Order: sequence, then C-alpha cells, then structure tokens
Amino acid sequence: MTQSFQKVRALTGMKDVLPDTSAQWETLEAIVRDWLAAYGYRNMRAPVLELTRLFTRGIGEVTDIVEKEMYSFTDALNNEHLTLRPEFTAGMVRACIEHNMLYDRPHRVYALGPVFRHEKPQRGRYRQFHQIDVEALGFAGPDIDAELIVMLQRLWKILGLNDIRLELNSLGQAHERAAHRAALITYLEEHKSVLDEEAQRRMYTNPLRVLDTKNPAMQAMANNAPRLFDFLGPESLAHFEGVCSRLADAGIEYRLNPRLVRGLDYYNLTVFEWVTDRLGAQGTVCGGGRYDGLIELLGGKPAPAVGFAIGMERLLDLWTQSQPPVAAPECQVYVIHQGDAAQRQAACVAETLRDAGLSVIVHAGSSGFKSQFKRADASGAAVAVILGESELAEGKATVKWLRQEFITDQVQQDVVALDQLVNVLKTRV
Ligand code: ATP
Ligand code: MG
Repeated sequence: MTQSFQKVRALTGMKDVLPDTSAQWETLEAIVRDWLAAYGYRNMRAPVLELTRLFTRGIGEVTDIVEKEMYSFTDALNNEHLTLRPEFTAGMVRACIEHNMLYDRPHRVYALGPVFRHEKPQRGRYRQFHQIDVEALGFAGPDIDAELIVMLQRLWKILGLNDIRLELNSLGQAHERAAHRAALITYLEEHKSVLDEEAQRRMYTNPLRVLDTKNPAMQAMANNAPRLFDFLGPESLAHFEGVCSRLADAGIEYRLNPRLVRGLDYYNLTVFEWVTDRLGAQGTVCGGGRYDGLIELLGGKPAPAVGFAIGMERLLDLWTQSQPPVAAPECQVYVIHQGDAAQRQAACVAETLRDAGLSVIVHAGSSGFKSQFKRADASGAAVAVILGESELAEGKATVKWLRQEFITDQVQQDVVALDQLVNVLKTRV
C-alpha cells in the first residue's frame, strides 16, 4: 500500500526567497551596509519575539498595527503574552535602554530583518516582510533629522532611483497636539455622518489617526479638517524650519503634506515619507520621523531620537525595475572527474583551490563527462578542471575555460601539472 503525503505550503503573505532572487537581496544588503557605514551607523540585532506590551505601549493601543496586525500568542510554557515584531523601533529602543547605552552618548544604529503584520496580502504588502531600520538615538536635531533625509537621497542615487519623492510634515509637541486634538474632535463630531465605523470608534481615542484613513468616502472630510501644522508654536516651527533649510542646502525638494501623520503613536515634530508612483498602490518606500518621547515611555532616561524604516521588498521591486538583475555564478571553478580514484582526488584538489581563495564545486556523484559538462556550464563557472584516468596517471589536470572572457590567445584548453593548477587558475579567474 502506498501512502501519499500532502504538500505543506508556506503561510499566506509569507514569501520564499529562492537562490537567484536571494543573490539580489544580498547585493542590495551589501550596498545598504556600505551606505550606512558611510554615515557612521552600526548594526545591532534584537530578538524577533518580544513581550506584547512592548508594542502596545510603544506603538500605541489605538493604531492599525496594534489593533489588527500583530501576530500575538500566549506562550503555553510560561503564560507570557508574546508578539512577533511588527516594526523595529520599539525593540531597538528597549535593547538600548536595557544595556544602558543611552546614558553617556548618542548612538547611530541600524538593523535589517523580517517584521510581521497580519495584513491583506497584495503587491508590496506581505505578512512577513523586511525592513532596513535606522535609528539615531540621543540626538535632538534638526541637523540629524535633515541628515537622515539627505542620507536617504544618497541611497536612491546609489541605486539609480530618481522618481522617489519626499513628503514632509511636523507633528509638533504634545501640548500643540492636545490643542489640535480638541479642535479636531469638535470637527469630527460635526462630520459624524461621513465617518466609517472605525473612525467613529477612534475619534475620541486617536482622532489624528482618523485623518490617516484610506477610505475614499472620508477623503474630503479629512482634507478640510483642522491641520495640526497650523497649531505649531514658534519652537516647533523653528525645528521644522531647521530641517527645511538644511534640505534646501542639499538641493532636496519636498512637499509639505499636512495630512501625513504616520501609523504609529510615538512620533513628534518631523515626520516624512518617500513615495513613488512606480509600485502601484503601495507606493511608500520609506517612512520615518522623530520620537522624542518613546525612550522615556519605555522606561529609559528621557532622550530624543529620530529614525526611519525602508520596506526592503518595495525597494527591491523598484531597484530591479531600473536595473534587471544578472544571475551570479554558483562558483568560479567546476571540477569534473571520471572514476573512483579521480573523484577522491578531485575532492582534495578542490580543497587546495579553496585554500587559494577560489570558490569551487566538485561534481557530486558519478555521471558521464557530457552531463558533468552540462552542469559545469549551468553553474556559471569560469573554468572546468577535468580529472580523468589519464590525467590522474600523469599527476595532471585538464583546464577548460568555459566563458569567452576567460579565453586568451584562442586557447580554450590546457593540460597542467597539479602543482601548477592554482597558479594557472589564479592568473585568469
Ligand atoms: P502602509 O501605509 O503602506 O501600510 P506603514 O505606515 O504601515 O505603511 P511603516 O510602519 O512606516 O509602514 O513601515 C515602513 C515601511 O515598511 C513602509 O514604508 C513600507 O515600505 C514597508 N511596509 C509596511 N508594511 C508593509 C507590508 N505589509 N509589506 C511590505 N512592506 C511593508
Ligand atoms: Mg500599514
């Protein structure tokens, strides 16, 4: 009797990154790391799983993320409420507080990795996606706010992306938001008939978020609502002006978008997003802003901070549109062999080539020369090293150059002594 097993599939909205695509990811990540290093940012890695209350407190109870997007569960072993990180900032700040990093000096830090949100999957919107998260902790700005934006402009330039535009706003300080909030609630009460269910529920708990609606029926109401920007006092305006003048110095254009409030509660003063029309409906590539209250809110000694997160999938989508990826070779040298003794010698020869810094695949198993050559070609290797019975008897190997750019003087194939092999290969590969 044969038993049949059902395939186990990946979860909805969670994508596998296969080797060819993964090579693009790695290239992009390497560019990103160099770009961050050029501004003095250092990598750190916090856990993917945290206590749920870190996010409910840090991000805010009445937000899309906390209300409906978090992967939360109770750890059956010790009854703790846990959540897969839906964003980086809360965990990064927690870690910096926990390790007393914020007492004596500011820090420029970044992290790359997966985040999890239970959203409706579509192009550019997944349930596991990846962020490049950058945080400047302990800086009051506005110089640093502007530096972050200038830095992003440089990344777009490095990647050859020229149609990402900047939207900018200021959310002011707590007392300004309180005055605006009162005016906004009055306005929302006057327009209660056009508010959807979610908006009616949020109008007293988080009225600013009502304006961040994606509901088309509420756009006109949201457009005409009292603008937080008009409630900013001289200090907040000076900070904003400080950012804008530095952007002008760097030749960066922006659009003041008074509707831009961002999806998380912890922001104040500067908020920004970089958006493009080349990604369909999910056009925001990067979002960020200042969050001077968060460190204190999470139990640290009060300190200002500012940061941003880039969506890796969206960035990669844009980048591959403008620069079609070239598949990277699997190795530089592919070793082909015939017979048991040659196969064993091939493994030893390959080790000496690796000692010399070459990447080498030894054909696994025993197949005919023809199919081994096929695999060698498909691997993208520059050269095949052939160990047959006759070569073995003479202590030699045949070297066959597989790609046009490595062939010199029309000589595609040489027989070389094994002790000369590294030299011959290293001069050309
Ligand atoms: P959106 O308005 O698209 O839902 P957001 O405000 O929720 O975005 P942030 O929390 O600011 O997004 O996250 C930073 C970046 O991460 C976004 O600008 C976007 O590029 C990316 N991002 C957010 N949610 C997703 C998702 N579900 N799938 C893929 N990328 C995402
Ligand atoms: Mg969202």
